[in-house]
Amino acid sequence: MTVTEPSSAPPHGDRDRAERRHVKVAIVGAGFAGLAMAIKLKQAGIDDFVVFERAGDVGGTWRENTYPGAACDVPSHLYSYSFAPNPGWSRSFSPQREILDYIRATARRHGVLPHIRFHTPVTAMRWIDSANVWRIETADGGVTAQFLVPGMGALSEPKLPDIPGIDTFAGTLFHSAAWDHDHDLTGETVAVIGTGASAIQFVPAIQRRVVRLHVFQRTPPWVIPRTDRPLTRAERWLFRRFPALQQAARAAIYWGRELYAWGFVDPRRMRAPEKLARAHLARQVPDPTLRAKLTPDYTIGCKRILISNDWYPALTRPNVEVVTDGITEVRPHSVVTGDGVERPVDTIICGTGFQVTEFPAGDHIYGPGGVSLGETWRRNGSMEAYLGSTVAGFPNLFLLIGPNTGLGHTSMVFMMESQANYVLDALRHVDSAGATTVEVRADAQDAYNRALQRKLSSTVWNTGGCQSWYLDANGRNTSLWPGYTWRFRQKTRRFDPWRYVMRYHAARPDAAWHASPAGAAGPADAADLPA
Ligand code: NAP
Repeated sequence: MTVTEPSSAPPHGDRDRAERRHVKVAIVGAGFAGLAMAIKLKQAGIDDFVVFERAGDVGGTWRENTYPGAACDVPSHLYSYSFAPNPGWSRSFSPQREILDYIRATARRHGVLPHIRFHTPVTAMRWIDSANVWRIETADGGVTAQFLVPGMGALSEPKLPDIPGIDTFAGTLFHSAAWDHDHDLTGETVAVIGTGASAIQFVPAIQRRVVRLHVFQRTPPWVIPRTDRPLTRAERWLFRRFPALQQAARAAIYWGRELYAWGFVDPRRMRAPEKLARAHLARQVPDPTLRAKLTPDYTIGCKRILISNDWYPALTRPNVEVVTDGITEVRPHSVVTGDGVERPVDTIICGTGFQVTEFPAGDHIYGPGGVSLGETWRRNGSMEAYLGSTVAGFPNLFLLIGPNTGLGHTSMVFMMESQANYVLDALRHVDSAGATTVEVRADAQDAYNRALQRKLSSTVWNTGGCQSWYLDANGRNTSLWPGYTWRFRQKTRRFDPWRYVMRYHAARPDAAWHASPAGAAGPADAADLPA
């Protein structure tokens, strides 16, 4: 299907359908990942599913991140669903609003909106042993489901910096993912904490508006040129008229991006991009003192490589100061750094990223015996899954964008679609076997993760000499897929039942509402609900 005219109106789903019922599949989250799953189910003729969404609109991270300058750093012809090409992209790297409109239009055209319960945060997802179903609890009831597919995204919980005194700040403070559009920065002195993928987009967008901008940089990023340009009317016409051309453009972008993976797995191959980044910095920052501050001391690729043409020029403006001394304290009207300098500021903007390695949703998913996924991973020392999807001990659970499915170089949508295909094939297998539950074998999960960590151990992310959100508190890379994404596609193309255990107990959805799962908080909330 082709999406040509994205509508900007927020879609409305069936949010009044509050009665409790049993469904085959419960999806949590209506971002790129959850919608990929919903659309794949629909395309496979499976209508018995529901999508829970805490907000009033689809779009996930592209709905939340509305900061000035927000755009994708993966070209749009690739950063989109393979089954919904959009010949109408306005630029090679589309802005946030256009991506959100694309997601809305795609959800609408594929008929999944009636399945979405908007404004319905899920409070807990519990496997009910005695009923062999998942119980998905929400304020207005919830559902039971044979399969649970959380697609809440890795970048959904903003992380505020833990700086002494930050809660005493009397000015305005917000995170880039919760931009305060009602607050006018014009004429203000502003502190920006962080120099990651978000900050390098919004700093140039606000620099001209503010009187003074202090950019607090803990680690300089490597930055390469952004080859962004408007797509011409002729190109758009050609893509519309000859879809195969757009497919070819997508393939060219895809394989070009895979070249990065070739470098990431062997840091010695990262010399060319590092040279490019150094030249970019030298060209855009003539002042050697500032250039020294902005020069990273780790191998390029260790942290996400950023692309921008206006980041460095913004930092060279007279109203901008790059501060590299660590912040020691925030006072009601100022920020204090390790060298004792106190900088008065009106507003603090935190471009400090997200809780990725903590996987916050894990604390709301309770498996058999009432132990949460988060607790299971903490006990084991790290997050771990098979193909980023299934976890031993958690039957009928399929994570989207679970551990080790993140990327530093190409489209996450490719990974999401791969996982959605895998889940669909798993469902087919369970059905054709007449089974009720499916669970990955612990030895299969172990073997997979040992191989994965072996591969990761020599990549630039593990050896490049930086601290990044790719690594968890134990220094283990639980975020990234180690290498080529086509390998992930290969591995997820077909469900591999020999790595799983299937069981044939009867499912008793009605009984699920009476059960009090051992070890969990218990269904105090559910007790108020009609059975
Ligand atoms: P990020 O990449 O995690 O960057 C956070 C920044 O805040 C880093 O510079 C970090 O410094 C700094 N920081 C964190 N805590 C701090 C503290 N306590 N004191 C001082 N500095 C602190 O976060 P992000 O920029 O929001 O991006 C997150 C991810 O979102 C990206 O990696 C990317 O995957 C995605 N993203 C994608 C796009 C896109 O175009 N596709 C755009 C934006 C974001 P250190 O480096 O020293 O930790």
